[in-house]
Amino acid sequence: TERTLVLVKPDGVARGLTGAILARIEAKGYTLTGLKLVDADRAMLEQHYEEHVGKPFYEPLVEFMLSGPIVAATVEGQGVIAGFRSLAGATDPTTAAPGTIRGDFGRDWGLKVQQNLVHGSDSPESAERELGIWFG
Ligand code: ATP
Repeated sequence: TERTLVLVKPDGVARGLTGAILARIEAKGYTLTGLKLVDADRAMLEQHYEEHVGKPFYEPLVEFMLSGPIVAATVEGQGVIAGFRSLAGATDPTTAAPGTIRGDFGRDWGLKVQQNLVHGSDSPESAERELGIWFG
């Protein structure tokens, strides 16, 4: 079976949505095989978001991810990488479809960084790389 890294970002934790988000993952039939609350540091985030270094939203993104605790989860299941991204919905919460995590709970409201509640790895290679950063 496949595995992926899911993060409940600081906005999700601060708004008390961790349980609701994890419940959707479990209801879908995926298995939580690792779970912890993490205070990220800059070095981890620089690795995690290496593809975005230098983009206009990079610094606000890092500040946002440093603004409070993050819930990191290892999630397993058949097709979970694409499956979780489908549960999460489009990156921009203003256009994410109803029924998705971001569509139902996400906010954007013209902020410098999209506070879109969750992250999910986008490929098996990213999943392994990111699990190394968050779970060592
Ligand atoms: P997805 O892959 O579904 O887009 P993601 O979380 O992997 O979700 P990335 O494109 O990797 O999205 O971007 C990382 C994060 O940076 C986003 O989740 C969002 O918080 C923020 N972000 C991305 N693009 C923008 C943008 N144009 N403006 C503001 N914030 C952005």
